[in-house]
Amino acid sequence: MVIRIPDYDITKHNTFGMTVKCNDWIEYDSIHDLPSIASEIKDKKWMHIGGGSNLLFTGDYDGYILHSRIAGIEVEMLDDRKVRVSVGAGLKFDDLIDWACTRNLWGIENLSDIPGEAGAAAVQNIGAYGVEVKDVIESVECYDVMTNAFREFKNAECAYGYRDSIFKRPENRKRYIVTGLKMILQYDGTANLDYGNLKSEVADNPTPSDVRSAVGRIRASKLPAVESVGSAGSFFKNPIVSRELYESISQDCNVPHYDVEGGVKIPAAWLIEQCGWKGSTHGGAAVWHKQPLIIVNSDGHATPNDVIELENKIIDSVRLRFGIELHPEVDHVK
Ligand SMILES: Cc1cc2nc3c(=O)[nH]c(=O)nc-3n(C[C@H](O)[C@H](O)[C@H](O)COP(=O)(O)OP(=O)(O)OC[C@H]3O[C@@H](n4cnc5c(N)ncnc54)[C@H](O)[C@@H]3O)c2cc1C
Repeated sequence: MVIRIPDYDITKHNTFGMTVKCNDWIEYDSIHDLPSIASEIKDKKWMHIGGGSNLLFTGDYDGYILHSRIAGIEVEMLDDRKVRVSVGAGLKFDDLIDWACTRNLWGIENLSDIPGEAGAAAVQNIGAYGVEVKDVIESVECYDVMTNAFREFKNAECAYGYRDSIFKRPENRKRYIVTGLKMILQYDGTANLDYGNLKSEVADNPTPSDVRSAVGRIRASKLPAVESVGSAGSFFKNPIVSRELYESISQDCNVPHYDVEGGVKIPAAWLIEQCGWKGSTHGGAAVWHKQPLIIVNSDGHATPNDVIELENKIIDSVRLRFGIELHPEVDHVK
């Protein structure tokens, strides 16, 4: 079934809680709906959303917004240790994790409590606590609006990187609609507890559910709950700088860092905190007092401009103090 609503209020479809509308809302629950939807929107302005948890609408959207309600889970035993799990793009990814942990399946437990849907998880290559969803994705199923055909991308074809995939490239954003994904999960996996303080939060020989609970506790202590405080999670990407720049900054202070391909990664949260932004407000927007990487809709009435002005002030001050350019992780939708 296809639901079409003109002049639709999408405040509840973006976790930032921006009060915005779109010209046309189209929600579908079968891949068979896509050919006719695609022929209607093809030459018009359109975008596909999931749970709207990585988006900042900068104003009303004068185009079509598509949303999938395809939410099934199918399981295929590959051997006595591995299963292939196929899910619809509209499934809440955290519901899938709950489902997997209940069945003692390993692979995605560290990604617990990340808001959003399965389709977007594959687009974004969501990551947390040392795990990225690309680690378990076998393939991503899409509808190609340009050729009017279904297409399956194997993991290697998705060009996965840090919060990045082939589906985020500008030329593909208006081309591929993710309809589902296939993942390989394991019955005899081991817990990945190497990141941060996760190890200290779980007992010996944990189950996937134990790890899920520990991740949930840690996240709840740092991150705003989307049900009560509007945000889109980490607002900025962690910058990768040259070794020379890192060494010059570290002459004055002890800089947290990770050596990565192409340079040195510095936590954006640390840079923002050093510039004194933690807990600061600007209009209805604020830098989250427990985690400065997150900009929140602190009073529930923040406008897109409040957020963008605060974003620009943060970028300017980090550039001025450290010579580092921050880039947003959150998609700014115009
Ligand atoms: C409190 C909070 C904590 C967060 N923590 C994390 C974290 O730890 N790690 C992390 O990686 N992210 C995190 N995020 C960011 C966010 O949850 C993820 O990016 C998530 O994958 C977004 O899912 P969504 O369904 O809300 O997608 P949306 O925000 O609706 O869309 C994201 C992108 O995917 C595209 N898209 C969505 N569905 C489809 C589809 N079916 N076909 C094609 N394109 C599609 C959209 O066009 C957009 O470009 C957090 C967000 C919040 C609010």
